[in-house]
Amino acid sequence: NDIADRVFRGVETVQDGVHEALFEPVVRLGVTGLSRAGKTVFITSLVANLLDRGRMPQFGPGTAITAAYLQPQPDDTVPRFDYETHLAALTAPAPQWPESTRAISELRLSFKVRPTGILGSLSGPRTVHLDIVDYPGEWLLDLGLMEKSFAEWSAEALTAATTRPEGAGFTEALAAFDATTKHAEPEAKKLAQSFTAYLQAARAAGYSDCTPGRFLLPGELDGSPVLTFAPLPAGEAPRGSMAREFERRYEAYKREVVKPFFRDHFAKIDRQIVLVDALGAIHSGPKAVEDLRRTLADILAAFRPGRVGRILSLLGQKRVSRILFAATKADHIHHAQHPRLTAIMEALVRDARDRADYAGAGTMAMSIAALRATVEETVTHEGKPLDCVRGLTESGKQAAFYPGELPEDPSHILAPARQGAQNWLDGEYEIMRFQPARLTLRPGEGPPHIRLDRAADFLIGDKL
Ligand code: GDP
Repeated sequence: NDIADRVFRGVETVQDGVHEALFEPVVRLGVTGLSRAGKTVFITSLVANLLDRGRMPQFGPGTAITAAYLQPQPDDTVPRFDYETHLAALTAPAPQWPESTRAISELRLSFKVRPTGILGSLSGPRTVHLDIVDYPGEWLLDLGLMEKSFAEWSAEALTAATTRPEGAGFTEALAAFDATTKHAEPEAKKLAQSFTAYLQAARAAGYSDCTPGRFLLPGELDGSPVLTFAPLPAGEAPRGSMAREFERRYEAYKREVVKPFFRDHFAKIDRQIVLVDALGAIHSGPKAVEDLRRTLADILAAFRPGRVGRILSLLGQKRVSRILFAATKADHIHHAQHPRLTAIMEALVRDARDRADYAGAGTMAMSIAALRATVEETVTHEGKPLDCVRGLTESGKQAAFYPGELPEDPSHILAPARQGAQNWLDGEYEIMRFQPARLTLRPGEGPPHIRLDRAADFLIGDKL
């Protein structure tokens, strides 16, 4: 009896699976961006606003959503995106920013929808699942490593490290390092740590091209041999030497870390949003912007139709049909400047499409704030009106700041050499660190945002 019961339940489970595959479409939405770009805040606010759609007037699928609810995700071995904890942090009496993305995670949001108009009365409600997959943009940049040998990657990484001031410590450590000696773990570890510290400093200084991505966000691989190597200048690599071992570990990194991520997660994504801290890069200056341009092209190249498939000789890679590039934290500037930010994003994406020779899916650029932490205020300064934003500072006080200005013509930022380099956002942007505002949500309303509804509409509106 027990066996019959189990068989029966097994059949039921298979039937459920088949039913789901046939009648309940699944949209897999990838959310990426470099560390601190705003992925965690974005997903938390997106989910809250999709559950309670009172602040989503521009989110207009062609169907009526009759219910939206969270469900267990289909991938049992992927960590669940910790939505409840993140939302609790943002909506606490003393609100805090949630903990940032450190690794991949996933969440399933399901919708019951009913077609509007005459169709609605004919067909019953349908269920559509939205699987949101959060993963670090740093990991995406690793796809480029698949096509590079250790020598090629080393040459590029060393050029970057020796020309950036953040690389001074590593360059010094490397000069004292003899790669032809017999492999010894303590020395290997020391050099790898010095290289990792450089990558972290370079990221903090606004550079985004810092591979291998897992050196920055190791997840459960922290301290393992695949993360214990560093780039080396061309030279001899006798058997058993440091150089030989580093090269072997680099290849292992590609095979054991990069490849599984692309095969198991990336290749299954339908829609993608790339979050970009464009304001941060612009404020950091022309070098950081130049670096961001190159990085966006590298990111977009990963989405070139079939590229992952070709590199990993992988069949069945899905085609990402829409990619949204969104400048985040737009609540740091007055709305009068939002069109400028959007124009800069549009120019960056155009440039990335050209550089990445990208002719695939629809791309779009936007400026958004997933969680609006400020209100606008115009103050009079030396007799002139100044467009400021006001919010709660880290010390718990309300204050208004003037972030500075963005150029009207994006080429001032994208081609500073031609236009004469200039610093933008050189007002008080540097010291603007807002805490999330205290929220009192009315029933049916999600947290306040800027254009999150339009972003959601572009990403999934047509799929519901
Ligand atoms: P992640 O590393 O991509 O997951 O980045 P997070 O989502 O953790 O965001 C990093 C930080 O950026 C947060 O702690 C906030 O300080 C800030 N941030 C993110 N989104 C917003 C936003 O919409 N508005 C404002 N003002 N700050 C934001």
